[in-house]
Amino acid sequence: MELYEMTAHELRGKFERRELSSAEVTAAVMKRAADIEPLVRAYVTIAHDEADSAAAEADRALAPGKSAPPLAGIPIAVKDNMCTKGMRTTCSSKILANFVPPYDATVVTRLRGQMAVITGKTNLDEFAMGSSTENSGIHKTFNPWDLERVPGGSSGGSAAAVAAGMAIMATGSDTGGSIRQPASFCGVVGLKPTYGLVSRYGLVAFASSLDQIGPITRDVEDAALLLNAMAGHDPLDTTSAKIMPPDYTTFINRSVKGMRIGLPAEYFGDGQEPEVRAAIDKSVRKLEELGAEPVEVELHHSPYAVAAYYLCATAEASSNLARYDGAQYGMRAEADNVIDMCSRTRARGFGAEVKRRIMLGTYALSAGYYDAYYVKALKARTLIKRDFDRAFEKCDVIASPTSPTAAFKVGEKTDNPLEMYLSDIFTIPVNLAGICAISIPCGFTLQNLPIGLQLIAPAFEEGRLFTISHAFEQATEWHKKRPSVMPSS
Ligand code: GLN
Repeated sequence: MELYEMTAHELRGKFERRELSSAEVTAAVMKRAADIEPLVRAYVTIAHDEADSAAAEADRALAPGKSAPPLAGIPIAVKDNMCTKGMRTTCSSKILANFVPPYDATVVTRLRGQMAVITGKTNLDEFAMGSSTENSGIHKTFNPWDLERVPGGSSGGSAAAVAAGMAIMATGSDTGGSIRQPASFCGVVGLKPTYGLVSRYGLVAFASSLDQIGPITRDVEDAALLLNAMAGHDPLDTTSAKIMPPDYTTFINRSVKGMRIGLPAEYFGDGQEPEVRAAIDKSVRKLEELGAEPVEVELHHSPYAVAAYYLCATAEASSNLARYDGAQYGMRAEADNVIDMCSRTRARGFGAEVKRRIMLGTYALSAGYYDAYYVKALKARTLIKRDFDRAFEKCDVIASPTSPTAAFKVGEKTDNPLEMYLSDIFTIPVNLAGICAISIPCGFTLQNLPIGLQLIAPAFEEGRLFTISHAFEQATEWHKKRPSVMPSS
């Protein structure tokens, strides 16, 4: 196995036994990133120099007799909507193309605190609005399993980087599915934590009541390690939960005997590819073999989730994005008065999808339509949350596909926003309810494209997700498959 294909927990073992240094692993990952970046285009910025010096520093902390933090020396990519002090943070938008933040996001501070090696900033749909990374204002990213297909989105750069060996792990953000759907398209693990578990300080806001940062990794144990580093109260984020998170690695290697798995009829109807459905059914049977018990549950209001999401998320986005006015930071278009300067900056700086959302959100919040659209969406959101509360009286976790399809072709859905929006039909309800969910590899289509299984748990029960997904992973081989992207000579 190549060094760049290893997991963080495997590397940790090798660091401790002094079989390997962070400098060697970092060099291997950075070389791989440079070699295949022209094909995959996972990064907006590759931080070669910063990575080299961080690796050297980590190696000093990993010296015998010192107790280095768990992620010391591990090459980690950061989604480009998380602020990195002194390192460009574009949100894949032209409006922030030259923005260099004066501070680190809390998640980045914590990674640096663990002496992780930041490899660079990964591509996303502009302001995290999209499901394919095609909405990036910088460039598109391609799926390492099939370069003619999308990696999913919006954390497509992070998922592609982890899948292709251009980073060992990565951070993602998930407002309606942006960690889980790309993880499923790229055959890696992605976890959306409970709202409030991970600080959003320094995450460029899209929809503040839905956004959450989480790990994208090659296996479940690595997801637990990365979540350990990220989770916990942060006084800089007023929505951060005042709880002491457990050590998530203690939830792996546990039995799933007697664990009740809820199967919502609403998630197993039409609209999913037969190969996806078959893989999910097979995965549920595998969990049964391991001792879990399937139970039927109802999520009656889930058919309203996508509509409610596109009102709540766009309403919040229209307000959050008002700050890009050309006056404070980012791009500024020249004009001889302030109004023209602001409108020209926004007209040139934002891409089509971002503009569509600002218009939709402004409309939903406007005086005449506020009650009819925004307030109604909030009510639907409450009903969706209550459905989950009721379902979790009967089960411990809920299983579903992560996405109704495997990775689609580049360009296939760009002319039809509604079809693109439906890519997140199974992931969006989780954000609306503020609970947690993981996507893990659970099969491949005949065309060798990865399929993801989503497991959902109640708020702050990430531990259950680790127990069940680790048990599934131990009993299967899907997470061991790697795409074979070769540099063009
Ligand atoms: N695809 C969804 C959207 O376009 C979700 C994006 C996200 O989670 N950031 O809004």
